[in-house]
Amino acid sequence: QKAGDDENYKLFFSINYAEKNQSNYLQYMSALKTSSNLFSLPWSGDVCLEDVYFSYPLRPDVEILRGLNLRLKCGTVTALVGPSGAGKSTIVQLLARFYEPARGCITVAGEDVRTFDKSEWARVVSIVNQEPVLFSVSVGENIAYGLPDDDVSKDDVIKAAKAANAHDFILSLPQGYDTLVGERGGLLSGGQRQRIAIARALLKNAPILILDEATSALDAVSERLVQDALNHLMKGRTTLVIAHRLSTVQNAHQIAMVSDGKVAELGTHFELLAKKGQYASLVGTQRLAFE
Ligand code: ATP
Repeated sequence: QKAGDDENYKLFFSINYAEKNQSNYLQYMSALKTSSNLFSLPWSGDVCLEDVYFSYPLRPDVEILRGLNLRLKCGTVTALVGPSGAGKSTIVQLLARFYEPARGCITVAGEDVRTFDKSEWARVVSIVNQEPVLFSVSVGENIAYGLPDDDVSKDDVIKAAKAANAHDFILSLPQGYDTLVGERGGLLSGGQRQRIAIARALLKNAPILILDEATSALDAVSERLVQDALNHLMKGRTTLVIAHRLSTVQNAHQIAMVSDGKVAELGTHFELLAKKGQYASLVGTQRLAFE
């Protein structure tokens, strides 16, 4: 890999930083476009974190993950919960391959992900962040952002926007899909920005989805539209979500309760409640935060 590719790899996902480095990002994307053997990755298998140990480079003395195991079954939703600082975002960053495990590995269909090029990984993983920041281009271009132009038709963009509950508000904008969203998407509301980000992920159609659910409150109507759009996006994808909503954990195929650098409890909402362990008390004490 060329120097600087690692930074651009992060930009591929971290839309927040992309704006100030937009030309780097675009160069990276066009390199991706021409790179061969995309999709040679066996993405239809389970994704596993196997005995993962990890410390951040800045704090090598502090082990954040200590022998963590977690299997994400292909096409199902896993919700991560746990106290603040337990390591949920860290797990997500390892899965996104922003960092490598110190020991242990992440596999897909039994193969270590390190055997795959990061550019391939970037094509099979979508990340939807808490606070998506958009580029100062049009709404339509924002939805298609990062995808090879020749792969995306206007119809595809509209289809994705409809599925993300964004089509109606887009049509009500002064120039519809051609409306410029302003610096960092500032002309749109938080809920609208989230739905644009969801439409982008729908269009990209990657089989693995990483979701960091927003904690900031939206009004009830906007909240429902975002939730519907997310449910649509998660369907059939291997999803790992940092969950903040009770409805998300209730609907997840499995919940991983992270504490002490490991998965302390694993099961469905009702299984874990019945266990009366850490998850049950988290839901008890954080009920308000979850709703
Ligand atoms: P929250 O629910 O508050 O977001 P979390 O479960 O997602 O918490 P992480 O963000 O994964 O927790 O953080 C786990 C630990 O790693 C914390 O102690 C945090 O201070 C530390 N940490 C996070 N990022 C870094 C970093 N870049 N460098 C050093 N330490 C970090």
